[in-house]
Amino acid sequence: AALSSASAWPPEGSPDYLDPHRPVAQRVADLLGRMTLAEKVGQMTQAERSAVDGDPELITRLGLGSVLSGGGSGPASNTPQGWADMVDRYQERALATRLRIPLLYGVDSVHGNNNLVGATIFPHNIALGATRDPDLAREIGHITATETRAAGPQWVFAPCLCVTRDERWGRTYESFGETAELVQRMETVIDGLQGTTPQDLAGPDRVLATAKHFAGDGDTTYGTSTVGTLDRGVTITDWEHFEQVDLAPYATAVERHRIGSIMPSFSSVQWTDRPGSAPTRISGSGELLTGVLKEKIGFDGFLISDWEAIHDLPGDYPEQVRTAVNAGMDMVMEPSTAPEFAQTLIAEVEAGRVPTTRIDDAVSRILTAKFRLGLFEHPYTDRTHIDTIGSAAHRAVARRAVARSQVLLKNDHQVLPLDRNRHVYVAGVNADDLGNQAGGWTVTWQGQSGNTAFPGTTIVDGIRQHAAQVTYSADASAPMTGADVGVVVIGETPYAEFFGDVGTHDRTLGLSTADRATIHKVCGTIEVCVVLDVAGRPQVITDELPEIDAFVMSWLPGGEGAGVADPLFGSAPYTGQLPVSWPRTEQQEPVNVGDRDYDPLFPYGHGLTTHDR
Ligand code: BGC
Repeated sequence: AALSSASAWPPEGSPDYLDPHRPVAQRVADLLGRMTLAEKVGQMTQAERSAVDGDPELITRLGLGSVLSGGGSGPASNTPQGWADMVDRYQERALATRLRIPLLYGVDSVHGNNNLVGATIFPHNIALGATRDPDLAREIGHITATETRAAGPQWVFAPCLCVTRDERWGRTYESFGETAELVQRMETVIDGLQGTTPQDLAGPDRVLATAKHFAGDGDTTYGTSTVGTLDRGVTITDWEHFEQVDLAPYATAVERHRIGSIMPSFSSVQWTDRPGSAPTRISGSGELLTGVLKEKIGFDGFLISDWEAIHDLPGDYPEQVRTAVNAGMDMVMEPSTAPEFAQTLIAEVEAGRVPTTRIDDAVSRILTAKFRLGLFEHPYTDRTHIDTIGSAAHRAVARRAVARSQVLLKNDHQVLPLDRNRHVYVAGVNADDLGNQAGGWTVTWQGQSGNTAFPGTTIVDGIRQHAAQVTYSADASAPMTGADVGVVVIGETPYAEFFGDVGTHDRTLGLSTADRATIHKVCGTIEVCVVLDVAGRPQVITDELPEIDAFVMSWLPGGEGAGVADPLFGSAPYTGQLPVSWPRTEQQEPVNVGDRDYDPLFPYGHGLTTHDR
C-alpha cells in the first residue's frame, strides 16, 4: 500500500530505484546492486497461475519475476474484475518481498484478450494478413492492449511473427502469411500493443509485446518433428534463406518497433550450407539468441522461453538450465517446476558454470521492462478502461476487420454481392457456431465447438441482418423450395498448436465428408450457390469448385461473424488478398510464391473485388 501512495513519493531517503525521476538505466543499476543471487534468479523465473494457487507462498518465497496464464487458465470468475482481482492478489505477494519488486503477468492475447469471457475477439492473424492493412493491425493491437491491461495482465505473448511455409502446419492461422514482407507489414500491431515510445508502455492502455517464436517455427521441413511432423520440427535451410524469410521479421520488430520481449521457438535448425550440421534447438543456441538476435540485430529486450521448452534440450536438468541461460535466455517459463529451476540455476552460478555477468544482464533486461511499464509506481491494475472491454466500439472494429479480411476467390457471373431481396438458404454447421468461427485460443486453449459462453454474432446472424428471407439448415435437410441463393458455410473445428488431425499434430487440408455432401446437395439444387470457408488455412476444394458460383475464404473471423455477411451483401467491398498460396492438392504442399514451377490453385495475393452497393 505504501508503494501506491503518490503524495511525497519517493519518501526522503528511499533508494534511487524507487525514484521515477531518475533514468531507467540508473534505477536498474541501483536495484541490481541491492539484489542477492536468489533474488536475481527469482526475477528470471516464471510459473503458471495454477502452480501459484497450489502453493500460495511461491511468489514471495522465490521472488518470482513473472506468472502466466497458460491458454484458458484464469480465475474462477472469468470477468474483467475477476481477472484484475486475481492479478492484484499475486502482485500483493510480489510486493511482500524484501525489495518489493512487482511481477509481470503474461497471457496469450493472440486475437484480442482471448482468455477473458466478454473481451473483443478479433479474427486470427491469417485473416489480418489478408487485409494487408497495417493501420487496422495497429488499431487491433491497441484495443487488445487496452482490454488486456485493464483486466490485469501487462504482458502478452503476441504477435506470432511466424512465416507459414507449409499450410499443413497446425499453427498456420497464427501467421500473417507466407512471406516475410507481409509479416513485416503487419508488425504495426506491435505499435498498437506497446505504443511507439518507451514512455507509452506505462499507460493503462498498453502492454509489453512478445514476438514469437524466434525463428523458423513456420518454416520447418515436413517429417522432421518428434511430436508432429511440422510443429516443433526442424527448419532445414541455408543461412541466406533463413535470414531472408525467418529472421527478417525479427529484425524489423527490433529496429522499427522496439519489441519488448521475444520467445525462442521449440523448433530446431539444421544448416544445409555447413557440412555435418545436426539439428540444433533454438532455445539452446547461443549463436542465434545472443550472437544473431542480441548482438547482430541489437535486441535489447528480454527473452522468455516457451512452455517447458528448456526440458527439450540435451542433457540432464542442470545442463538444460545452463545451456538455455548461457545461450541468452533471460526468463524461463517453468509452469510447474519453478522451484526446481531456481534452485538449479543458483547452484549452476555458484559452481561457476553460469557467469554472474550473464545473470546480471538477464535481470537488467527484465527490470528495464518493469520500470518502463511503470510497475514500481503503479503495481496494481489501473482499471480506467475496464468498461471498454467488449464495448460496441471495439466490436465494431472487429466486425470491420472481418469484412476487410474476406477473400473473394471466385465470382462467376458476378453473383456477389447478393441482392437483399432474395430468399437465402444457408447450410453448414459453421454458419452458426461461435466456437468454430473463433478457432483455438478462445476462452480455452484449444477452443471449443458450440461454445456460446462469450458474446458475439455468427455468420447466419449477419446474413439475417441483411437478407429479406433466410432459411437455415445446418445439415441441409430442410426443403429448399423457393430459395434463390444457397450459402454453404464449410470449414474446420477448433484446435490449437500441436493438436492436429493427421496421426500426430499436423492438419489435413481436405474437406470433411459432411462439407462435401452439403456442397453437392445445395449447389446441385439451387441455381446460385455460394461457399464460404471458415478455416485457419486453405482447404483443398479443386474438385468441388466447378459446381460453385462464388467462393469466399472467411478464415477464422472470431467473435464478429456478422462481418462475413457485410461484403456478401455489398455493404462493404471485397478487398482481401490471399496471404498464402492456395494448393490444388494436399501433396502439392509446401507451395509458396517464388517457387520454381509455381502452380497453385489460387496464387498468393489473389482476391477479386466488388464495389459497395
Ligand atoms: C505456445 C506459446 C504460448 C505459450 C504460453 C506454448 O505452448 O507455444 O505460443 O505463448 O504456450 O501459453
